[in-house]
Amino acid sequence: MNTVQQKHLWKFARGEAELQLFEAWLYSDEELESVVDGHVYLRLISCDFSDPEAVRQCRKELWSNLAVNKQCECESARNFDTIRVFRSDLRRDDFVHWNYDQFVATQDTSFKPSDELDWRYISRCKVCGTNWLVNHPPRNFDGNSIERVSDQLVEDAKNGAWPPIGTKTFG
Ligand SMILES: [Zn+2]
Repeated sequence: MNTVQQKHLWKFARGEAELQLFEAWLYSDEELESVVDGHVYLRLISCDFSDPEAVRQCRKELWSNLAVNKQCECESARNFDTIRVFRSDLRRDDFVHWNYDQFVATQDTSFKPSDELDWRYISRCKVCGTNWLVNHPPRNFDGNSIERVSDQLVEDAKNGAWPPIGTKTFG
């Protein structure tokens, strides 16, 4: 499975895909059938995307299939996800969840260009290359978050242009 396929599938499984776009992509990717588990593929192409419960079942099935081979936590985390200190397993509904400790384990956090705000930094996954903007304000135990960001945002930050605090700019 290539990275584009992986991103589309995980995004759908997390519940963050635009359904019409996902459905259109699903039928346009001719290789998908040969790289996805046969049963899961059939479920996806026969899914009634206008029925929320059917979509949820398809996502759930896809999630457990994808989770078997995941190498890092990036694709399980949402584009913008809050972190709760002392609770490493972050559950979003009955099947969407990710583990903060496992997430941190693959992150390269050496890129910290802003001394002023040392609680706000960019990390990059050593396994899949996803960039994350991490907010870790001091003395704030519930407001911590991670946000998936683009290569462009990382370049801008390296040049001193950090995005304003509170904006969401998914990569
Ligand atoms: Zn990763």
